Amino acid sequence: MEDSDSIDSISQVIRGPSMKKSDSLPTSAALRAAHLIERIGRVLRAGDHATGLNPAQAEGLRYLARANRFSRTPAALADFLGSTRGTVSQTLLALEAKGLIERQANARDGRSVTLELTKAGTEFLRSDPVRTLAAAIDASGADARLAEHLEAALREAIAERGGRAFGACHSCRHFRRDQRKGAAPHHCALLDEPLSASASLLICAEQTTRT
Ligand code: SF4
Repeated sequence: MEDSDSIDSISQVIRGPSMKKSDSLPTSAALRAAHLIERIGRVLRAGDHATGLNPAQAEGLRYLARANRFSRTPAALADFLGSTRGTVSQTLLALEAKGLIERQANARDGRSVTLELTKAGTEFLRSDPVRTLAAAIDASGADARLAEHLEAALREAIAERGGRAFGACHSCRHFRRDQRKGAAPHHCALLDEPLSASASLLICAEQTTRT
């Protein structure tokens, strides 16, 4: 099945009310979309192996490229992956051994560490299979609503398991826009920290969506 077929099907489902929590059985279109999402995940994992990383390593690397400075920690990565600290520790050791990430002292407390992509890690992600999938989504004609509806579905799935959503900072109830002039005009009311425009686009372990 072509990628564009997959995206069309997902869009067809998410436009309608079928993602609402309901006592009724899912529609055949919703089931088809769910199976396509699963299949896309499988294709991506195969792509990860072809790059020389296992899927957990690839997901960890992607996470560190998208997470804000408060969330680039082993504990937050474990939460994001729904994995144990021990498993994540092995993943991080492998990424360090490949020269793709490095540990740095946490500037906020000096005791813990933050995880940062190295130059090689940033370069590695330029050929990330996710980018190929994103290009296929663009080519399918899907618009921004596709990501919004998939995000809503993902949030619901994560909430049912008691996990955290890790949404974008600018959509957080603690985000305060344009509080000052300069390179970091925004503010986090929870952590009492300044935020730059680019940081506002990153995902955060503490993010709580506005209601
Ligand atoms: S505003 Fe929310 S998402 Fe942004 S840094 Fe603060 S807690 Fe995290």
